[in-house]
Amino acid sequence: MARRIGIDLGGTKIEAIALEGSREVFRKRVPSPRGSYGATVSAIASLVNEIGAGSVGVGIPGALSRVTGLVKNANSTWLIGRPLKADLESTLGRPVRLENDANCFALSEAADGAGQGAAVVFGVILGTGVGGGIAVQGRIITGVNAIAGEWGHNPLPAPGPQDLPLPDCYCGRKGCIETYLSGPGLSRDHALLTGESLTAAEVAALQGESLERYEERLARALASVINVLDPDVIVLGGGMSNVARLYTQVPRLWRRHVFSDQVATRLARPTHGDASGVRGAAWLWEQWEKHK
Ligand SMILES: [Zn+2]
Repeated sequence: MARRIGIDLGGTKIEAIALEGSREVFRKRVPSPRGSYGATVSAIASLVNEIGAGSVGVGIPGALSRVTGLVKNANSTWLIGRPLKADLESTLGRPVRLENDANCFALSEAADGAGQGAAVVFGVILGTGVGGGIAVQGRIITGVNAIAGEWGHNPLPAPGPQDLPLPDCYCGRKGCIETYLSGPGLSRDHALLTGESLTAAEVAALQGESLERYEERLARALASVINVLDPDVIVLGGGMSNVARLYTQVPRLWRRHVFSDQVATRLARPTHGDASGVRGAAWLWEQWEKHK
């Protein structure tokens, strides 16, 4: 059976899997060579070569510019401006498909996860950064600018006094959704409120005012997605997706912000957890074959 190889290139680790059908037959993680582009290409190539024959899909923390083919919007900044797809293809001697990692996450959950059978799936990463991806009928929508689903750098909707001052974002804007809803964003907000310096997981475990503020902001931010995309399912990924309360609190809170008499959209946990991104990368060729 033909193997599908998936690579998830993250800021701290590179993960590889091989699927035969939907069965996982190989998995390995290596640390990301932070700061070195050449070493990153070599690390991916040696993982692929270890697996052997098969189609190769790669999820990256960014996107390929539709204009130049170079990596843009990557928080792993050593990738920015590099022809990663072309370099991988020449190193490996086979074609490679590259997609944004949040898009891979959405694809994985749409293919055989929490969004299986749903027409429209919005996948959200709430981790070190905030990203999003859209899968329609099991196919990723990349978009004409390759930014479909990238809601993390929209401004937080309807900011009130409790949201001020608008935090500075690395992208050069102020008050981006990411500055509130990333893990570091929750830590920052908790420090602002209490003076305590805790990790996002520690703040969430307190189940206090900081988490309530987080839930209310997440509800506002997702309501604006529902108003545009009207998805069947929103699947959460990233570290914050482990906070069980979000799945009951946020749908209760988003009602008043959604322009509809009812909100049938489900907020779901990821079926494949941490493995969703790399599985989605492996599915990239499959989704393309299905629709070409
Ligand atoms: Zn931003």
